Amino acid sequence: MPKVKHRHSKTRGRKRRTHYKTEAPSLSKCPQCGKARKAHHVCPYCGYYGGTQVKRIETVEERKARREKKEKKG
Ligand SMILES: [Zn+2]
Repeated sequence: MPKVKHRHSKTRGRKRRTHYKTEAPSLSKCPQCGKARKAHHVCPYCGYYGGTQVKRIETVEERKARREKKEKKG
């Protein structure tokens, strides 16, 4: 393992770290529902990718019903 011979100054390290940034995810419009979704990702709103539905999206009512069912069980 290579090891640093001499410690850098605080400034030098901080200057280097100015390039450590998080970038906002690149968003594109969903051709199916028109909402903003991540590029090259399945749309979280309609579940479509490449013109076909690949994921079923629960409606608010379905989710509610599922939750109530779970509560009754436990
Ligand atoms: Zn969509």
